[in-house]
Amino acid sequence: MIPNDFIQTLLSRIDIVDVIDRHVPLKKAGANFAARCPFHNEKSPSFTVSPTKQFYHCFGCGAHGTAIKFLIEYDRMEFLDAVEELAQRAGMQVPREPSRTGPTGEHEGLYAALDAAAKLFQRNLAGSQRAKDYLAKRGIDAAA
Ligand code: ZN
Repeated sequence: MIPNDFIQTLLSRIDIVDVIDRHVPLKKAGANFAARCPFHNEKSPSFTVSPTKQFYHCFGCGAHGTAIKFLIEYDRMEFLDAVEELAQRAGMQVPREPSRTGPTGEHEGLYAALDAAAKLFQRNLAGSQRAKDYLAKRGIDAAA
């Protein structure tokens, strides 16, 4: 997962006009930029890009979104790839939230608990013939 904060910062550092202009040449139209929409067929441009809002919007087909959404829709990129591409352009490192399977964080507590349980088991084992028999049957050397 990519933290939402990072997405917000990333979007504030890149310019959607640059991003889209590389794929769809934009023309300045007042405060916005315009082009013929890449998402539907049209003769007159109803696709607009707002540098202030950092959104694109098409009055013809309703396409609408951020620079990330544009790459996903136009380049058929995966969300993560689109974020990586834009982060690279902005000179930012994409942070990854710690994996839940790694041997860090909450797992340390679990390992400590397992360790304590193993020690308790070893201590009790010395006084339990049943446990020794069980382990011998399973081929485990209880003296080790
Ligand atoms: Zn459109």
